[in-house]
Amino acid sequence: MQVVYHDVIIVGAGLAGLRAAVELSGKHDVAVLSKLHPLRSHSGAAQGGISAALGNAEKDSSEWHAYDTIKGSDYLADQYAVEVMCNDAPRAIIELEHLGVPFSRFEDGHIAQRPFGGHTKNFGEAPVRRTCYAADRTGHVCLHTLYEQAVKDKVFFYDEYQVLDLCMADGAVNGVVAIELKTGRFLLFHARAVMFATGGYGKAWKTTSNAFANTGDGLGIVLNNGIPLQDMEFVQFHPTGLYPLGILITEAARGEGGVLRNADGERFMERYAPTIKDLAPRDIVSRSIYDELKEGRGAGPMKDHVLLDLTALSREAIAEKLPEIESFSRIYLGIDPSVTPIPVSPTCHYAMGGIPTDVNGRVLIDAQGKELPGFWAAGEVACVSVHGANRLGSNSLLDLIVFGRRAGKDINRFLDRVLLKPRPLDTGALEKVSRKIEGLLGRKEGETVAAVRTDLQKVMMDKVSVFRNEHGLAAAVEELAVLQGRAAGIRVKDQSKVFNTEILEALELQHMVNYSKAVALCALKRQESRGAHSRDDYPLRDDENHLKHSLFFLKENGEAVYEQKPVDLSLASTRPEFVPKERKY
Ligand SMILES: Cc1cc2nc3c(=O)[nH]c(=O)nc-3n(C[C@H](O)[C@H](O)[C@H](O)COP(=O)(O)OP(=O)(O)OC[C@H]3O[C@@H](n4cnc5c(N)ncnc54)[C@H](O)[C@@H]3O)c2cc1C
Repeated sequence: MQVVYHDVIIVGAGLAGLRAAVELSGKHDVAVLSKLHPLRSHSGAAQGGISAALGNAEKDSSEWHAYDTIKGSDYLADQYAVEVMCNDAPRAIIELEHLGVPFSRFEDGHIAQRPFGGHTKNFGEAPVRRTCYAADRTGHVCLHTLYEQAVKDKVFFYDEYQVLDLCMADGAVNGVVAIELKTGRFLLFHARAVMFATGGYGKAWKTTSNAFANTGDGLGIVLNNGIPLQDMEFVQFHPTGLYPLGILITEAARGEGGVLRNADGERFMERYAPTIKDLAPRDIVSRSIYDELKEGRGAGPMKDHVLLDLTALSREAIAEKLPEIESFSRIYLGIDPSVTPIPVSPTCHYAMGGIPTDVNGRVLIDAQGKELPGFWAAGEVACVSVHGANRLGSNSLLDLIVFGRRAGKDINRFLDRVLLKPRPLDTGALEKVSRKIEGLLGRKEGETVAAVRTDLQKVMMDKVSVFRNEHGLAAAVEELAVLQGRAAGIRVKDQSKVFNTEILEALELQHMVNYSKAVALCALKRQESRGAHSRDDYPLRDDENHLKHSLFFLKENGEAVYEQKPVDLSLASTRPEFVPKERKY
């Protein structure tokens, strides 16, 4: 077993991890570990854009951006964190431009901007063009640019190293256990600072826009180490997944003029959100689609989807602004979206919850905000919380860039200030991981990963998706307890050491079941409807009892603990616009 030392270990090479690495490079010895080649991280799949009140298309302000983000979050976002993000957004975009991101541009040379769901002018008056983009490949170009910068700045990369656990000593994080995929050997990474940027967890649902690797490993690992997860019940379904596959059709398609229609050809969003129509936030559009299906107005022989109509856009406009959407429609369904509307239905897309952090990425381990020394998190795995109960489109890429950088800066400050040597490594985590893997390899009988994963995805899709109720959620909690036992008893057939993806998938499945328990239990406890969490049996928002964050802990004996934590309403104390009120669009 080999021990490797770096001052900082960043787990995850998506935009959050890379942005932090670029901030640290040249100042400290920083290494990025990723189970995928960095350029295969899910950030590269982001299509529609990144928000910032640059005002290149029309008058805009960071205050309006903050208002939209807080209203979009159904008032669960922490208001100071939102203010930090929205105020920093214009600077962050110009910085990306200077690093080399090839943004699309207006005729006059300024960075182009387009409308996105829930982004408005003058506190909700009408849609505003706030989202910067590079056609519909925004994540791809940002990821390539930041990776180039990180390589230029001599960041160490450990590609295809999967992190399996955290190392802790004296109540602080000081390393990780990882396996090298190519050889199957374990390595202990020793560090003074560890940051998780391991991304989202949509793979626990049957229909999802997420990549195969989005199995929420970071969340599973922290739960096993007694660290809580926050607001896990809030899982966003994007309204326009390509039917029936769930592949994402970006909201930019509606930003550029596409409209949703039911089987009667009616533009139904006019009824649900009269002011901003198809550009309402995603939770509202997804629910409206399901309401249309319930009323029998779905399209196709099964009446189980709706249509995204881009036929008002010219073929040239689609080719210039939405080339990926054109190609997905052609390749997967054989249709030309400038002629034929695209069949769509909601698809599991984004995790609002995650590892609780402050605005500098420091991980917080209780409701009072106690820090866990040596540990940071940023990106989709973290919950700052700027998205509350529902994220606005194009605010995630912004979150990654702003809070990835802030975590990097905070780690720099920490390393400059604390000159201590890292705490000695405890090899307990490595022993735990080896025992688990030996158990998997030694078992002569047991189910396959695929069998258990399929059942998990079905439970989450049927009982813990857009509409929820007590009966379904309570059943899901019970079924997840059974699935946990089944996931622990998996049999792995592949006994080799080289690229043994079967073992890794078995471990990923255990993480998936763990965080799914957090999602289902927090959803059961939240007896109200807020943002993406919609309860048939509690259809109203209940600020009196539930204007609070949820915290979920897993004790060593497997017992789940649920707590609540206050929401920061600091802007509301001075400005009436930010006081929680009914969300109307
Ligand atoms: C199809 C799609 C389109 C989207 N479009 C937009 C958009 O237009 N605008 C927007 O704002 N948001 C968009 N989003 C959301 C946004 O892209 C994601 O929230 C964001 O990219 C997450 O970035 P991240 O850096 O947190 O993690 P990711 O980019 O997901 O990267 C995770 C990293 O962690 C590594 N990792 C994970 N587990 C381990 C482990 N155990 N060991 C080692 N490494 C590990 C992976 O290898 C990877 O490098 C979109 C999401 C999807 C799925």
